[in-house]
Amino acid sequence: MSKGWNGRKPAGRIAYVDGRYMPHGSAGVHIEDRGLQLGDAVYEVCGVSDGRLMDEAEHLDRLERSLRAIEIALPMPRPALALVMRETVRRNGVRNGLLYLQISRGVARRDHPIPKVSPRPSLVLTVRSVPAGEFEKRRQDGVTVITRPDERWARRDIKTVQLLPNLLAKTAARRAGAYEAWLVDDAGLVTEGSSTNAWIVDAEGNLRTRPLGNDILPGVTRRVIFEAAEVAQLPIVQLPFSVAEALNAREAFISSATGIMPVTGIDGRRVGDGKPGPVTRRVQELYGLTSAGRAAKSGT
Ligand code: PLP
Repeated sequence: MSKGWNGRKPAGRIAYVDGRYMPHGSAGVHIEDRGLQLGDAVYEVCGVSDGRLMDEAEHLDRLERSLRAIEIALPMPRPALALVMRETVRRNGVRNGLLYLQISRGVARRDHPIPKVSPRPSLVLTVRSVPAGEFEKRRQDGVTVITRPDERWARRDIKTVQLLPNLLAKTAARRAGAYEAWLVDDAGLVTEGSSTNAWIVDAEGNLRTRPLGNDILPGVTRRVIFEAAEVAQLPIVQLPFSVAEALNAREAFISSATGIMPVTGIDGRRVGDGKPGPVTRRVQELYGLTSAGRAAKSGT
């Protein structure tokens, strides 16, 4: 087992699988789970900060939206699911980390059409600690990105586990010594990163990101940034940008549940002065305040 875990055995970790909390190492799904065989499943990744789930309500909203789009029922009422999420974090004793939640259509004889009689959806949750510094250094120092053609399907607004184009793009980025791949549509406009939303601070000083639609994931962090920017009266526009515009931008950054990271270089060329910029810093600060304020209000 140690090989598959990059040499780190997840000793002591607890997974939740269909109603049971189990040792991570022996947890598994059925071989005819449609998520496993057909990618017939959706997921969420939620940050854990000080033992609390970040932006929990927004993640549950998006999960319900993804499930509706592919006609899978929520396997339990939403408040119960929220309890299972928090309990999984608690049982793992994770203070800072990431929660992974996946719901598949369930177990059925392998066949493409959605079964006439719906199987019981399967629910899997895992949590892992993120060592201090794993993302923090990147949030401070910034990251570089490469650009790749966006080869995904046309419903990128649904958070499905079908991630092959994303992981191939991310692998290309890592092999090129970059952190993320920005995906570019046929018109030369950036859609988003392989697992992040893409932003620039344009020449006029506007925060700029692609509008929501079928071609990008409605990022929870993106949504919180909008709220925060509006409260702080930062100019923010939903307008696609090209790679050339990003290279001429004052600043660029990416957003996801792993945080907001300045983008200091694209395809080996510098963005702005090649250092994290003041607007990105302000957005990082505002995001922290907004998210923490919400968690305190909801009691998560
Ligand atoms: N875009 C894609 C393709 C993603 O996979 C993700 C996160 O996994 C995001 C954007 C960022 O979304 P969020 O802020 O909800 O993590």
